Amino acid sequence: MLLTGQHLISGVSPIIHSQTFQTVNPATGKILDVCFSEGTDVDISIATSVAEKAFAIYRKTSGVKRAELLESIVAELNVLKEQIINRAHLETALPETRLEGEFGRTVHQLNMFAQLIRNDDYKHIRIDQGLPQRKPLPRPDVRLTHVPIGPVAVFGASNFPLAFSVAGGDTAAALAAGCSVVVKGHPTHPGASELAGLAIQRALHNIDLPGGVFSLIQGREDQVGSALVQDPRIGAVAFTGSHAGGRSLFNLAAARPNPIPVFAEMGSVNPTFVLPLILKEKYKELARKYTESLTLGVGQFCTNPGLLFVLKGAEGDSFIHSVKTILQQVEPLPMLHLGIKKNYQSKIKQLLQNKGVSLVVGSDSQSDNDCYAAPALLVIEAEDFHRVPNIVEEIFGPSSVIVQCETLEQMLELAGRLSGQLTATVHAHHDEKEFCRQFFSVLETKAGRLILNDFPTGVEVCSAMHHGGPYPATTDSRFSSVGETAIQRFLRPVCYQNFFDELLPLELQKNQEKQG
Ligand code: NAP
Repeated sequence: MLLTGQHLISGVSPIIHSQTFQTVNPATGKILDVCFSEGTDVDISIATSVAEKAFAIYRKTSGVKRAELLESIVAELNVLKEQIINRAHLETALPETRLEGEFGRTVHQLNMFAQLIRNDDYKHIRIDQGLPQRKPLPRPDVRLTHVPIGPVAVFGASNFPLAFSVAGGDTAAALAAGCSVVVKGHPTHPGASELAGLAIQRALHNIDLPGGVFSLIQGREDQVGSALVQDPRIGAVAFTGSHAGGRSLFNLAAARPNPIPVFAEMGSVNPTFVLPLILKEKYKELARKYTESLTLGVGQFCTNPGLLFVLKGAEGDSFIHSVKTILQQVEPLPMLHLGIKKNYQSKIKQLLQNKGVSLVVGSDSQSDNDCYAAPALLVIEAEDFHRVPNIVEEIFGPSSVIVQCETLEQMLELAGRLSGQLTATVHAHHDEKEFCRQFFSVLETKAGRLILNDFPTGVEVCSAMHHGGPYPATTDSRFSSVGETAIQRFLRPVCYQNFFDELLPLELQKNQEKQG
């Protein structure tokens, strides 16, 4: 399959755009073939208008039909699997084995939603039958179901070119809910995006659904995403990426004449608290697992343990020494693109300008010319913590800050000062249950996923998973892009009062009740 570099918009013949962009292989610095069209306002307007027309038809389809679509997308992705993985590898420098795993997760997400929508449970139906004899007033017959919210704009992140991208969890959830989708392709992996988009287009054709149900607009200017979010035909936004990007799109959506929900999942520092007894017993093992977690994927995970709290003293020092020894042996590896690498370096430099922050491993002067990054470990004492406001900001890359505390009470106090997080972790011995309870009582107000004696990287895609958290980790802590509940973001409740049975949606009709 030859890449065209075109946007994918149903019914629109390929146009040669005057403005194009190319991507760079982060491992070699070489420019990759294929020029990709830069999206224009006209492209966006066409894509959203076909999405709006298609939505009118698609929202009425049955769950079974949409499940067939998702399964057909899986089949078409499998046809292109090798090419998708090869291209994603060239565009991101992520190892092929990692991309194989991510491909599997992408397929799993699509299959999971296909399974979910084969019955109506996800619509959370409620029926309050009429009580005409009720005194003093009769009760009307009231029935509630959930309907698709409208065309959804999807933004994926650079670090998940498959699972949080064109055919990723957001697109799968939106299509499952009955929404049409316009994806703004991530500019660092446009080739992998085009291939995944082609698979979706083919699946729509296979199942005989309108092509306008899915479009892909490529582009590397912020203007493309901004215009998409501001388009009046878009009904909701699903975003995975940086805090700056998510917040900016959230503000634009809120400022529209008709504001729409933005489900932005952004980064966090994923605080980790290590209690003293477990540290004493397992400091070597904890040091190994912590370094594995913070260097996984060159630290390019939103669940990277960016802040770790220990007590000062001999055990704390031994732990830091073990972490240092391991990290010093980790070779520099390519990050996703030069912008991310430069940002990583400059954020470490900025932190080091603060009194009390010291560098234990790494350098604040790595080369600016390539994407390769080495791990960094920083240390700060608890009493300096509040003097360094940016210490609680995510540094996207293989780094972490260890905070040395005088007492557990001080550690608990710092936990209480943290803002919203995707995850919060405590490592505790069985005999430290009481302190553990106190920590989680605070952390429950801060994070969407609480972890005991494990590390936050590695998000299981299952029905009980929640991958969100209070702001600034996300813009809506009630929802998550991971797991079955992700579909709820793209549904809205509608209740029907006193309806003729035949006029009710099928799932609310009385004859359905009898069958049930
Ligand atoms: P990013 O730079 O914010 O890009 C994400 C997408 O948003 C891109 O398509 C980008 O396109 C667009 N965008 C960003 N800022 C924009 C703006 N102001 N206006 C319009 N469009 C904008 O994020 P990234 O660097 O790819 O991803 C890394 C970040 O994602 C990290 O912070 C990581 O923690 C987070 N992440 C979070 C999760 C999660 O589930 N919570 C998962 C993975 C990654 P343009 O570049 O063309 O503007």
